[in-house]
Amino acid sequence: MHNLTNRNVIQMDSEHSSYLQFRRLLEYPGLFHMITLKPWDVGTLSTWEKKEETARNTIKEIAEELQTDEQAFVRPCQTHSDHIRRIGEGERGIYPDFLADTDGLVTDVPGTALLLGFGDCTPLLFYDPVQKAIANIHSGWRGTLARIGSKAVTRMQEEFGSRPEDLICCIGPHIRSCHFEVDEDVYRMFAEGFSDFADFETFVRRDAARNKYFIDTTAINTEMLRLAGLKEENIIDSEVCTVCESSLCHSYRAEKAASGRMAAVIGIRKPE
Ligand SMILES: [Zn+2]
Repeated sequence: MHNLTNRNVIQMDSEHSSYLQFRRLLEYPGLFHMITLKPWDVGTLSTWEKKEETARNTIKEIAEELQTDEQAFVRPCQTHSDHIRRIGEGERGIYPDFLADTDGLVTDVPGTALLLGFGDCTPLLFYDPVQKAIANIHSGWRGTLARIGSKAVTRMQEEFGSRPEDLICCIGPHIRSCHFEVDEDVYRMFAEGFSDFADFETFVRRDAARNKYFIDTTAINTEMLRLAGLKEENIIDSEVCTVCESSLCHSYRAEKAASGRMAAVIGIRKPE
């Protein structure tokens, strides 16, 4: 069977579903994480009414597989914003009211599992092994434009005293430059938004005949994190494109409105 294991991620197959884990994050026993693959589906807020049972069941099975408590999970209502919230002791739940309009979560509370949903957008999982703090960030193209990735680094500095040079960032599966085709209006937003990059044009491939642009958001997020102070070796790319791998990944581009959502989960274990 098709398997996405590569130098940075390992594909695991459980009795319920398959999922990916980053080799680098598996080095830390105090941490748990995963990126789910099909058939697991955590849905979206708009499909919650129709698919609540599937989503709840998926979360239950994820918890089982990660050997954590279902009650540990917290999931925000994502809106492609650049809003990041710190999760405190006891702040939990699926789509709780206090997490409306939120696309990033940070915490240092053991026994907390941060869960966000993805269907082509870029998951950024952060870990600070010194301060024992984590972040889970939803960086779609709007979030990338708003630099939510570097805002997460700033936020971890402010909240936990994290040093950028200690931070590890794992970039989950997302729509990559092979498939992220946009029209001139979006290209222009990116060109203006990243005009401070030394050579933004190296992140773009043009199809002049069709007047389309392919933007490399993987490279943009990597450069953003590098500029925020992360070390090259601490920025780890899953190297998986959700559209190329839509047999295993939920993809909005590939499956349109019917598409499900993958979960990216990161959490800190409670000491025994
Ligand atoms: Zn692709």
